[in-house]
Amino acid sequence: MDLFEYQARDLFEAHGVPVLRGVVARTPQEARAAAEELGGGTVVVKAQVKVGGRGKAGGVKLAHSPGEAEEHARAILGMDIKGHLVEAVMVAEGADIDEEYYFSLVLDRANRDYLAMCSLEGGVEIEQLAEERPDALVKVNLDPRTGLDEAAASDLVERVGFDEEIAEQVVDVLVKLGDVYREADATLVEVNPLVKTAQGRVIALDGKVTLDDNADFRHPEREDLVDATAIDPLELRAREKDLNYVKLDGQVGIIGNGAGLVMSTLDVVAYAGEDLPGTPKPANFLDIGGGASAQVMADGLDIILSDAQVEVVFVNVFGGITACSEVAKGIRGALQQLGNRASKPIVVRLDGNAVEVGRAMLEEYDHPLVRVVDTMDEAARVAAELASTAMGRN
Ligand code: GDP
Ligand code: MN
Repeated sequence: MDLFEYQARDLFEAHGVPVLRGVVARTPQEARAAAEELGGGTVVVKAQVKVGGRGKAGGVKLAHSPGEAEEHARAILGMDIKGHLVEAVMVAEGADIDEEYYFSLVLDRANRDYLAMCSLEGGVEIEQLAEERPDALVKVNLDPRTGLDEAAASDLVERVGFDEEIAEQVVDVLVKLGDVYREADATLVEVNPLVKTAQGRVIALDGKVTLDDNADFRHPEREDLVDATAIDPLELRAREKDLNYVKLDGQVGIIGNGAGLVMSTLDVVAYAGEDLPGTPKPANFLDIGGGASAQVMADGLDIILSDAQVEVVFVNVFGGITACSEVAKGIRGALQQLGNRASKPIVVRLDGNAVEVGRAMLEEYDHPLVRVVDTMDEAARVAAELASTAMGRN
């Protein structure tokens, strides 16, 4: 999960990283009050969206009075920045910037360690810096067992060539950012810009943090951070039911067991739909895992059928530990539970453990919406054709 800048600011502050005071505002009036709370002097009004380049897009503005902060907030709130609607601003104390630096610490999956990057030329976007001035960006891979400790931070600061008068301060800030990374189980901690003020203080002015969702169980406090507006409503509902669902932009709903099988199902469906009128595509990824019980099947079907674009559902299950007879029972139970809400054709392909029994059960059930097809390719073709025909009727 990505954090908003103000959340990153709070996290930095909690770990002793020097930051400026900031107050979140959701209306222009709140922005004025925030500016007053910060002393009535110069503040910066910053759009809170999870995307970079806010400054260039007009989402970061200096204000010299509470009235001006209100005006800027009025302009920034409601703005669309690269497809992200601005619903809040952070009103932050203004900094008297002397120099802008860049720092980041990221998980380097390819090398199975951490990568620290730092530059004296911050403020610009990192991709741009890496392309235009690669020599100005120092990259160091770190042993994840020690991370960005004092020694690694000192080494990095020396390589980058920070002025002696601030080197010690920068080392201290980097070590604390390393603490943030480790203690918060982050996969990214980026500060751009890290600044030196005219008074010679080093401050993290803009922070970007990505938390590792796999570590959520260690951080119960994180539930408050979840940004429901950023998640597709169907994905949110699926998450509440513990379903591994990703919404896509097609018409053929997909349910399968095992991530690999579901991914190849997406491929065969996309392929089958390629030359058909309307080019039907997969509507989602949904892996129901090992236990295809009636409840899980019903929850999955319910979510897929709530997607108004879906015209047909393709259930593709390979019985392993869960026998196909159980899956057949699951489908039957799900349809009974859903009643009228099950309104679209369901193409079922079963294979593996107890396949004959499973298929026979579905044949016997003889539900008007269910069609059993023996092979995956044939089932994908049938599903894509049903979707294509339905799309032609709309
Ligand atoms: P981004 O464009 O989304 O990365 O937003 P930043 O928070 O990094 O702000 C962009 C730029 O605005 C920074 O690089 C600074 O040059 C400038 N800026 C941000 N905060 C302040 C501030 O408090 N005072 C001054 N003078 N400039 C600021
Ligand atoms: Mn920035």
